Amino acid sequence: TVLLEVKDLKAVIAESKQMVLRGINLTIREGEVHAIMGKNGSGKSTFSKVLVGHPDYEVVGGSVEFKGQNLLDMDPEERSHGGLFMSFQSPVEIPGVSNIDFLQMACNARRKKRGLPEFSPIEFFGFLQPKLSAVNMDPKFLNRNVNEGFSGGEKKRNEILQLAVLEADLAILDEIDSGLDVDALQDVAKAVNALLTPSNSILMITHYRRLLDYISPTYIHIMVRDSDIRRRQNRKDGDVSLAEQLEREGYRGISAA
Ligand code: ADP
Ligand code: MG
Ligand code: MG
Repeated sequence: TVLLEVKDLKAVIAESKQMVLRGINLTIREGEVHAIMGKNGSGKSTFSKVLVGHPDYEVVGGSVEFKGQNLLDMDPEERSHGGLFMSFQSPVEIPGVSNIDFLQMACNARRKKRGLPEFSPIEFFGFLQPKLSAVNMDPKFLNRNVNEGFSGGEKKRNEILQLAVLEADLAILDEIDSGLDVDALQDVAKAVNALLTPSNSILMITHYRRLLDYISPTYIHIMVRDSDIRRRQNRKDGDVSLAEQLEREGYRGISAA
């Protein structure tokens, strides 16, 4: 089943009307992992922010369907409640709010929207246990304030825990590898892999090939030349030659091809 269908998506920066996305096409089906790579400034973050409805951008052409509905018609909150999750490059700290309270609030808001009964604190704790172990997070982080004083790796892992709690259908992970050493990267990748099911999907954005060693994509896309996604490759047969070519020749070699 198709989860996300992006057709010829064009967007400008709201303030300056400068064109940033010039016609993006992307189809993501349930159970697939897509990687978008591309050099700095090619529009990767802009694309993901447009998908979640960030007010800095204005869509000026094309269409986006998510689970068969017009995503562009929904406000950011509806998109999130509809099952779209985005992990930002720099997760925010929320002083004075404990992680577990934050997670329970977010989870119950979601359940309410879906017409499900809210969890009591005890029920929520039961719901949370398997998620905590899936992402291999130390329970002591539950009582700390959201992201306050967390290391880079701990923040990223906390994002993955939020994703697990919200049970999103499509998770957009923008540079979850940024600022992580290899050990932290492996931990975060393991957490992401543990959440993959045949019915959810991941769109991961990265500048570096390294992440693909740990989270294996079904498709790799390279965003080049002012934000068009120009190349794609099926990786179902275990072929990562596009990523390998990138490693050898850099983005310059790919763009010239
Ligand atoms: P990437 O994530 O691939 O590094 P971005 O999507 O962050 O690239 O940026 C794409 C281009 O659009 C860059 O040239 C960037 O400076 C510009 N851009 C993105 N958002 C804004 C904004 N809100 N205001 C001005 N320029 C922006
Ligand atoms: Mg960047
Ligand atoms: Mg970016």
